[in-house]
Amino acid sequence: MLGEAVRDLRGRTRGEVMEPGDGGYEPARAAYNAMATGRPVAILRPADMPDIIAAVRWAAESDLAIGVRGGGHSVAGHSSPNGALLIDLSRWRGATVDPAAYTADALAGSRLMDLDAATFAHGLAAPSGTFIDTGIGGLTLTGGISWLLSSEGFACDALTGAQLVTADGDVLEVDEQREPEVLWGLRGGGGNFGIVTHLRYALTPVPAMFGGRLRFRGDAVREAILRTFEVEASAPDELVLAIVAWRAEDGSPAISVNVGWRGDPEGGTAAIRALADHPACYETDLKAMSWLQQQSLYQPIPFGLRQYWKGHLVGRLDETLADALIASAAEETNESFALVELIHGRAHRIPESWAAFGGRAAVANVTALAIWSDPADDEAEIAWARRFADRVSPLSLRGGGYLNYPELDQTAARVAAAYPPDSWARLRQLKRRLDPANRFHFNANIPPADA
Ligand SMILES: Cc1cc2nc3c(=O)[nH]c(=O)nc-3n(C[C@H](O)[C@H](O)[C@H](O)COP(=O)(O)OP(=O)(O)OC[C@H]3O[C@@H](n4cnc5c(N)ncnc54)[C@H](O)[C@@H]3O)c2cc1C
Repeated sequence: MLGEAVRDLRGRTRGEVMEPGDGGYEPARAAYNAMATGRPVAILRPADMPDIIAAVRWAAESDLAIGVRGGGHSVAGHSSPNGALLIDLSRWRGATVDPAAYTADALAGSRLMDLDAATFAHGLAAPSGTFIDTGIGGLTLTGGISWLLSSEGFACDALTGAQLVTADGDVLEVDEQREPEVLWGLRGGGGNFGIVTHLRYALTPVPAMFGGRLRFRGDAVREAILRTFEVEASAPDELVLAIVAWRAEDGSPAISVNVGWRGDPEGGTAAIRALADHPACYETDLKAMSWLQQQSLYQPIPFGLRQYWKGHLVGRLDETLADALIASAAEETNESFALVELIHGRAHRIPESWAAFGGRAAVANVTALAIWSDPADDEAEIAWARRFADRVSPLSLRGGGYLNYPELDQTAARVAAAYPPDSWARLRQLKRRLDPANRFHFNANIPPADA
């Protein structure tokens, strides 16, 4: 029966359609996270917009849910939707820049590197993320933490327009004039409202960066974490800091403070002097760099590893967090680490009403990233990440985490807790308008408001 329906989908579209058993299906289905094993009924790589519209209507007639893949980096496996239609935009890549208007239009399957390369050619940048191989689609629609976080806000704050195919196959041109409520919802409401095919960003000049890492080890690591919190408390907008904590080879906790300074080395050096001078700091590789070099600071983490991430958007930075980092970094894991992405500056000053994104009041995204290869380690690694999340939960804003770093078994309550109650109610109304049957539920799901 479904085979017949998939044949029908092939007949209605020009792009590549794959179903289980077809060559190419398995790699196209594979999730970033090897723990996510969802198997779509069919995968469409659309050739054009009419393909997407036809596929959405086909899914409605076949009573199938729809998943969307851009860069494919969903750690929760949302872009390998089990028993659903997967619309795979991973080949919809590329961005064009209007340097006079300071805007970029990007196809929604673009990776950060596509957007960055296009904007960099004009000395411009969009706030996006810190790993160049992640997709702009999932990242922007659900927040977006980058090296421009404190000077420009979250990636979703720079979203000024989009093209959206809704659950009934309508195409909405979304911007502040035509669809202000939808634009608000796309700034943080994730993939709940349909298939975004294009994203438009406001750009900003970034002529120079100064970045790299400061590494700390030894007995004074806890004190170095607290000093980082002090530096953050009075940091200028140009400075973005992240703390990574892991277990060193000798079993002791080690940390790295990762730095992105928007500007010249003199200003950056002064801004982090209190950290560079700390006695536990044993190594630094900070240097002047271009925006593209800053974006390449982190090595991509490959597809196919086992991953379980869990954390909280926290409302304060204090000794509880320092102790949690030290305790978790002392425990034995494989490639796992705890991450603290610090938030200040413009990310806080943009009014809540600008975007649906629910983490604006947070001072940090604090997440355990358990990463390993051997299924025999599943239980221990998942338990490690959960323990860390429990340790930092007293600091949590509302009990929710950063929705771009979702745990595999994320509950509906944790999704709701990621938003202030007013935003949540408004998002549920918007969901009811655009996707009343909740056909797009492979995401941090917003249930449609009751009739
Ligand atoms: C190695 C790694 C590094 C990361 N670094 C950062 C970082 O620096 N900053 C940060 O903020 N986040 C970061 N993330 C998290 C990242 O933002 C999310 O994983 C995000 O979902 C990636 O987007 P994607 O398009 O690659 O994902 P996909 O797996 O393709 O999509 C995930 C979900 O997003 C939605 N979606 C994606 N595209 C569309 C679309 N066009 N229309 C509608 N819905 C869509 C769908 O619900 C989809 O299921 C990182 C993740 C990884 C794995």
